[in-house]
Amino acid sequence: MIEHRSTVSRDAPKRRLRWAAALTAGLFAAAACSGPVSVEPPQVDVPTPLPEGIDFDPDISTDPADESCDPLASYSPGSVTAEQARDTLGDQELLVVGISQSTNLMGYRDPSTGQPTGFDVDIAKAIAGHLMGDEAKVKWVPMTSGEREEAVNSGTVDMVVRTMTMNCERWGNVEFSSEYYHGGQRLLVPTDSGIAGLADLTADHRVCTGAGSTSPKNIAEQSEAQPVTVPDFNDCLVLLQQGTVDAITTDDCILAGMAIQDPTLEVVGEAFSEEPYGIAFAKGNTDLARYVNGVLETMRSDGTWQSIYDTWLAEHLGDATAPAPVYQD
Ligand code: GLU
Repeated sequence: MIEHRSTVSRDAPKRRLRWAAALTAGLFAAAACSGPVSVEPPQVDVPTPLPEGIDFDPDISTDPADESCDPLASYSPGSVTAEQARDTLGDQELLVVGISQSTNLMGYRDPSTGQPTGFDVDIAKAIAGHLMGDEAKVKWVPMTSGEREEAVNSGTVDMVVRTMTMNCERWGNVEFSSEYYHGGQRLLVPTDSGIAGLADLTADHRVCTGAGSTSPKNIAEQSEAQPVTVPDFNDCLVLLQQGTVDAITTDDCILAGMAIQDPTLEVVGEAFSEEPYGIAFAKGNTDLARYVNGVLETMRSDGTWQSIYDTWLAEHLGDATAPAPVYQD
């Protein structure tokens, strides 16, 4: 995902790289000769690696948010059986699920096993246990935020369980389950940044976030900082470590996972948006949505949801209980 480009307008990382190159050259020279040497630092221009698809000045809609629906209102479980729900799958022997494979705590490929892990992954596995009779009957398809709607509607996946916020605009394109996690957008900054929340961001700050997500509009509406988008918000972490951006903004649970990966970073400020997560299905596949809502009811009442939350998120985000379902019929 990382490609090399020769231009970036932030100078600090370049300067650091030039000094590192100069120091290395000096050490090699010193090792090769016996006497003292005088080495001028060579002016090498080491490019800063940037993720493919980075946009330093993204177009962000200034249209008011669509508030024509209740974003939380899904379909009541009713009497859809597992067999009826399986009939809607592309392959009735395998549940194909869209996830992230690089979002620590939520959907993350464990390098030691090669298996996806995290809150979203365990929610999907529990659903597969009910629907397929076997948690292992799942095929995982990694995807970015911007690929989710197309993935369910093209039949590439049967469902998406990937930190996906339910909102009216998206309800126009996909079906959602009932809410299974309630998040909010926050900021991740270096511990010594002096930024303690949204109010400390100025027009001189660059804030990295994910394209195709709800995050760019939220930050653009509530701050003067310059949003920088990347197709996969996980690439923001390297950009912050490089000094190419000053902060990362996305949902609390995602930022908590990044803060674990780099202890020199911290999540700051209050949440400044509501991000209710739903599982997405192809538009029109209300049978699968109803069946999954029945499974989520069971998971709320039999302790499965709580155990998944406590395993992945409680230590980092505090205690929580499952959001109560809302139905439109
Ligand atoms: N929950 C937000 C969204 O669905 C941000 C995180 C993400 O893109 O997955 O847009």
